[in-house]
Amino acid sequence: MTTRIYNFAAGPAVLPLSVLEEAQRDLVALPGVGMSVLEISHRSKTFDEIIQGAEADIRKLANIPDNYHVLFLQGGASLQFSMAPMNILPAGGKADYIITGSWSKKAMKEAQKIGQITVAASTEAENFARIPGQHELKLDPEAAYVHVTTNNTIFGTEWKYDPDTGAVPMVADASSDIFSRPLDVTKYGLIYAGAQKNLAPAGVTLVIIRDDLLARSPKGMHTMLDYNTHAKEKSLYNTPPVFPIYIMRLVLKWLVGAGGLEAIGRRNEEKAKLLYDAIDASGFYRPHAKPDSRSLMNVTFRLPSEDLEKEFVAEASKAGMSGLKGHRSVGGIRASIYNAFPREGIEALVSIMKEFERTRG
Ligand SMILES: *Cc1c(COP(=O)(O)O)cnc(C)c1O
Repeated sequence: MTTRIYNFAAGPAVLPLSVLEEAQRDLVALPGVGMSVLEISHRSKTFDEIIQGAEADIRKLANIPDNYHVLFLQGGASLQFSMAPMNILPAGGKADYIITGSWSKKAMKEAQKIGQITVAASTEAENFARIPGQHELKLDPEAAYVHVTTNNTIFGTEWKYDPDTGAVPMVADASSDIFSRPLDVTKYGLIYAGAQKNLAPAGVTLVIIRDDLLARSPKGMHTMLDYNTHAKEKSLYNTPPVFPIYIMRLVLKWLVGAGGLEAIGRRNEEKAKLLYDAIDASGFYRPHAKPDSRSLMNVTFRLPSEDLEKEFVAEASKAGMSGLKGHRSVGGIRASIYNAFPREGIEALVSIMKEFERTRG
């Protein structure tokens, strides 16, 4: 057996070992089926049980009411940047975007091709080191929706509250914190998430959409870009990404077994605290995110110089840790510690941080 190292990558990201082992065990022939999941028809009873099981666990985990549809789409979160406004923003209509990082900006850029977009708040002047407070949001009560990015993967910030947008539906890009903590779906009209951070390998995008928003899709919409197609056909209009959905099904079972979103949320709090406490206790490591906006999923920090940062990444690599180099827009170090990232990996990181500070600080 090859040894696994600690994978701090931002996405695609670490999956639960038990899930990988089960997939490996059953890869050549699913029990009772005699064919690989890679070979079966998406219209087979076997796949039907996989996708239905995934949907049932998603509904159970987040307590999703019946007036929401759960869709398994392709094209990543990036296609949702377009699909959301194409479906729910009337041509020439208005929408508010809250800009908390690069992904919010990319989402806004696509929406601008459809309607009139207003920046309801932005923390770009502070290099996205924090999430704006409710009092900073300049919301238009006539907007078709308000778009938020719940966790900012690159900058390491996360909303600690559900913003109040009144009667205006909220659309959330939850790619990097979906199911990492309790989620009140009823506060949102549409939630989308590329699955490759917290739920599955790359190739599937989870979409949770409320009935009344489905009704907004304009007539003449291209079939594949229309949420109604996928809602009506239960994500089986065309061939869905069978394997990523199969793995997602296993990850969801693992999540239910781990006690659900409350339990995983507590576990993630504890894991992140280990790292933030180590950063706060040192004068050597400097956190990027402001304390009230700190992400539990992506922990970003700087060292005193870029040379030291390079050296630190190299040392970490020697100690069996990968994916720690920060995104160029923040620099420094980013430790992505999603649901499946083991606590021992964070303890190992903290330990080399202490040693590095002792010898280089
Ligand atoms: C990774 C990420 C994306 C992009 O996802 P793709 O599936 O690659 O399109 C979008 N938004 C956020 C918040 C992300 O973390």
